[in-house]
Amino acid sequence: MRNSKAQTSGIEQRRPAFQRPSNQLPDPDSNSRTRAKRPRESASDRAARARLILERMAIHYPDSRCSLDHESPFQLLIATILSAQCTDARVNIVTRELFAKGGTAEDLARLPQEEVSRIIHSTGFWRNKTKAILGAAKRLVSEFGGVVPTSMEQLLTLPGVARKTANVVLGVGFRKAVGVVVDTHVSRITGLLGLTKAATPEKIETDLMRLFPPDHWIVSSHRFIDHGRAVCIARRPRCAECFLSDLCRAAPPHLPAPDSSGS
Ligand code: SF4
Repeated sequence: MRNSKAQTSGIEQRRPAFQRPSNQLPDPDSNSRTRAKRPRESASDRAARARLILERMAIHYPDSRCSLDHESPFQLLIATILSAQCTDARVNIVTRELFAKGGTAEDLARLPQEEVSRIIHSTGFWRNKTKAILGAAKRLVSEFGGVVPTSMEQLLTLPGVARKTANVVLGVGFRKAVGVVVDTHVSRITGLLGLTKAATPEKIETDLMRLFPPDHWIVSSHRFIDHGRAVCIARRPRCAECFLSDLCRAAPPHLPAPDSSGS
């Protein structure tokens, strides 16, 4: 991803490797060599920087999408609840069996609790998750005719559903941009980029909704997640290879300009 000039200039070879102790992430507001405070950024400058970040993410991750396997909004809801503290790949393994037996709210609500626990055990936190997905399925049957509702307010009445899960279901399942999905990748990377200083998912979401146009609310989360897996990896971000380094408040100084062409 580096441009050829940067590769041949020797700049990368002379620059010390960007490594921090595993428990120390970059401070978005300081220069990592001198610890000098960066100049304060105006709201309009931050908005302009956010637009450039979104543009480059679109170039580099044109096909980003939800990686949870599902065939209906109901299955997406259940898979998203199961994905807490678990990889999507593991959830997809588990839901193959789960959805074969309980692929609708009615069918899942009828499954014995022990059977559900056995199937989802490997996703972790299986007691809470069993309670949540059975509770959600039963409430969907009793209150919503077995159909996943399409409003944030109604989704939040389901056991195990907070704004992140509701935003996934609304955005991916119904193509409704009501908010921004804030998971661990999104909160970490948008913090490093200096797009938000908020500490809670709700406040981070509010900041991002102000900065991003609504037509980016759904897809931007998938792109941040892909960036978190490929480049801005937790505890060892690959800033020297990052196409956002010149727009990132946590990038080490003096990195050569990134190649943002998507090549
Ligand atoms: S430059 Fe890129 S990899 Fe480094 S902290 Fe910023 S977004 Fe993450």
